[in-house]
This record gives sequence, structure tokens and C-alpha cells, in this order.
Amino acid sequence: MEKDRKIDKVVNLAKRRGFIFPSSEIYGGLNSIYDYGPLGVELKNNLKKAWWDFMLARPDIVGLDSAILAHPQIWEASGHLEGFSDPLVDCKKCKSRFRADHLLAVQKKGIKPDFGKSKPKDKKKISCPSCGGELTEVRQFNLMFKTFMGPVEDSAGQIYLRPETAQGIYVNFLNSKEAMRLKIPFGIAQIGKAFRNEITTENFIFRMREFEQMEMQYFVDGQNNKQIFENFKKLRYDWYLSLGIDKENLRFRDHAKDELAHYASQATDIEYKFDFAGDGGFKELEGIHDRGDWDLSRHQKFSGQKMSLTDDQGREFVPQIIETSGGVDRAALAFLLDAYTEIEGGRSTTTESKKEKEVVLRLDKRLAPIKIAILPLSKKENLTAKARQIYQLLSAAYRLQYDETGSIGKRYRRQDEIGTPYCLTVDFDSLEDNQVTIRDRDSMAQERVSSNELKAYFQEKFSL
Ligand code: ATP
Repeated sequence: MEKDRKIDKVVNLAKRRGFIFPSSEIYGGLNSIYDYGPLGVELKNNLKKAWWDFMLARPDIVGLDSAILAHPQIWEASGHLEGFSDPLVDCKKCKSRFRADHLLAVQKKGIKPDFGKSKPKDKKKISCPSCGGELTEVRQFNLMFKTFMGPVEDSAGQIYLRPETAQGIYVNFLNSKEAMRLKIPFGIAQIGKAFRNEITTENFIFRMREFEQMEMQYFVDGQNNKQIFENFKKLRYDWYLSLGIDKENLRFRDHAKDELAHYASQATDIEYKFDFAGDGGFKELEGIHDRGDWDLSRHQKFSGQKMSLTDDQGREFVPQIIETSGGVDRAALAFLLDAYTEIEGGRSTTTESKKEKEVVLRLDKRLAPIKIAILPLSKKENLTAKARQIYQLLSAAYRLQYDETGSIGKRYRRQDEIGTPYCLTVDFDSLEDNQVTIRDRDSMAQERVSSNELKAYFQEKFSL
């Protein structure tokens, strides 16, 4: 295994500082399921809010929160019952389990498993990457989690945990259109949990069995798909850049014709350079797909409900769909990896911290879980009382952390490591002049600001 991988450092930081914990850890964990800790939930909420605001700021996009459980016929219509499967192979010798398409990519290109999407047609030529053993025949493995509705566990009561949020949008297309008096083109945005019984699960929160998606389905009349598709590609790419992702680490990858999903006529992935991946490191972060009229036509056929509309010229048509489909967790991982910076030898000037490696999480201010740390210079009552007063003043508008333990240098470093943009120190002079020191995470510049002006000061700092 490669040494000093950023992902390993981020996993360590995430656990130690309360971003992400392995689920059910005291029982040995549950494979590929993770819990977001006190700072992780803030990061994730900030990320979802940034996406939601980006989408809902548009006059042509409305929101939705559909249920995780849905009528099982939805999955028949969507093609998931029949086709949402991965090719599975087992090693006859060591019993390891792999996705055949991933293995094929490994052995053809000499890269790690869990990359690539080639079809497993050359399966005979591949062997177990762990022990070289012979592999079983390929079995198709459906990725949907099953459960039962009602007291009887029989096939009549069988339902599924949704593997994507999109279908909840399609089946509410007419309801939303009518209730909101929408005219095509318009979009419906949704953030919610999705579940996939993935065969290979690795790389922390990159591939999970329970995860969250942020999806927007844009309904069009099919006259201008290419242009709308290109617009959304650019908008979504720019969104990641606007929240601080380094341009070098982001790229588009257009799907080749033979790689397109059954419903798509054109598709592009926005890929991020995850340092754990082979082939240059780029892997999917979000997909932009032109789904044509496949989804609504299928729901029209399976439900018997009319999904078509009539345009101004009297032409009847089934609306087509351009979707942007991203993962909240995958995006959180990309933002964490991109923000993680190590400074060898440290950047502080105090002797105690000299030569120590320092970690700064350069998260965009909007994403940072804690916005301001309130630090009284000492635990003396008059200083802590003033610091608490300031905490009260700012706590309604910002997520804060109050910390009075350890040297001020150590406290700054604790905040740098979790990405807090500003540290506010109350010192003995503050008692005289009513001013506090504010330190900027990235430049480490410090300035004195009057306590009376703090609200206005931070309002400006956190304005877009
Ligand atoms: P992959 O090829 O990596 O399996 P996919 O093409 O199946 O992904 P989509 O079905 O297009 O993914 O889902 C849209 C987005 O949802 C992905 O871009 C990704 O960000 C996220 N996503 C999909 N599967 C998972 C998962 N198992 N864990 C975390 N996020 C996921």
C-alpha cells in the first residue's frame, strides 16, 4: 500500500476530531456504513445547504422530499428490478468476492480494483487478484435492499429501499407541476438517502451502502437538450470550484456510447482526483445525464397514468429529462481531501510549536463546521465572563466553539485542523479597551476589533 496517502490522514482526522465514525463501532462496525459526528453533521448540512441554495435560487427549480419507501412497481418501471445489478465473481480458493468489471479493468490496465466499467466479457482471462485462484462464473447481483411492508414476510409485501432519489421526483412530476403552476422547462431538486448493496465497498465514504444523493431533474420538451445539458455541465463544475475545489483536481469525462446507461443518450461525469484511485486518480463525483423521455414514458406505461403534455402548437409529447446527480458523501470526501494541508515544520512562531507539523483544513467558510472559536486567553473569571458574553452575542448566527484549555498556540492549531476560519481571543487588554483579537485561519493575520462591532464584522466576513 502506498505510504502517506492523504485519504488515510483524512480518515484519521475525521475519526479523531468528530467528523465521521465507523457505524456500530462497539460491535465491530458494519461494513461500509458510517456515522457523521458532531463536526461531520455540520459539514454535511453546510454542503447540502450550499447545493440547495444553488438550485432553489433559480426561479425554474422547486424542491421535493419524497419517501425512501415507495410502491414496488416504481422499480419495475424504472428498470431497477431487472437491470440494477453488478457482475459478481468469487474466488474458489480464498473466497474473496469481486466485481468482475472492476477486475477486468485491473488486470487489463494494471490498476487497482474498484475502477473502470468495462464489460466482463473476457472473464475467463482473469484470476483472483489476492491469491491467483480460479474465479466462479459471473452472477448478476441486484443492488437493491429488500424489506417487507406489513406483518407478513411474503412476496406480496416485499418492497425496496430506494437505490436513487430520482424516481421519487418522476412520480411526483405531475403533482409538483400542477401545484406550483410550472411550465416546461423546469426542474425538481431533492436531497435524500439512497441504499445500494454494493459488492465492493472501500475507500471510506466514497462507496457506501447507505448514502445521500443531491439530484435535480430538469424537465424539457426535447427541442434543446444539447444546450441545456452543456449549461448544467458547466454550472455543476463551477459549483465545485466556487466552494474551493482546486481546478487541477476536477475534470469532465464523457461516457462512451457503449458505456451509457440504458436510459441515457448522453452522459458526462464530473470527476475528482481522489488520491486512492488508480489511473491518474480520477473517479466520479457527479453525473450529468440526458435521460430522454425514458423515465416518464415508462411510468406512463406502468401506471396507466398520462404523463404527456401539449405544447403551444398542440403537439403532444412526453417530457424529457436532463439530470444532475451527485453524492453528498462523495462531495464531502472531496472537499475534505482538497482542504487538507500539512505544513512541515509548522507556521507558528512560538518556540513550543516550531518544527512540529501543522495541519490546516482550508475549507470554504460556508462549509466549515465551526465558523468562529471563542478563546479567552486565560481561565481567569473576568476573561471567561467576557468571552461567554461574546459567545452569547454571536451564537444565534454562527456555529461556535468555546475553548479555554491549553496554550493559545495549541488552541489555534486545534481550530486550524478542523477548518475554523476565525479565532477570537479575549485578553487582558480587552477588559480595558473592549477590543478582541481576531485571527484569520489562512493568512494568520490578526486584527483588533471592538466587541460592539463584532456582528457587523462577521456579517461582512461571511457574506458571499
Ligand atoms: P459508481 O460508478 O461510482 O458506482 P454510479 O454511476 O453508479 O457510481 P450514480 O448512479 O450516477 O452513480 O449516482 C449518482 C451519484 O451518487 C454518484 O456520482 C455518487 O456521487 C453517488 N453515489 C452513487 N453510489 C454511491 C455509493 N455507493 N456511495 C456513495 N455515493 C454514491
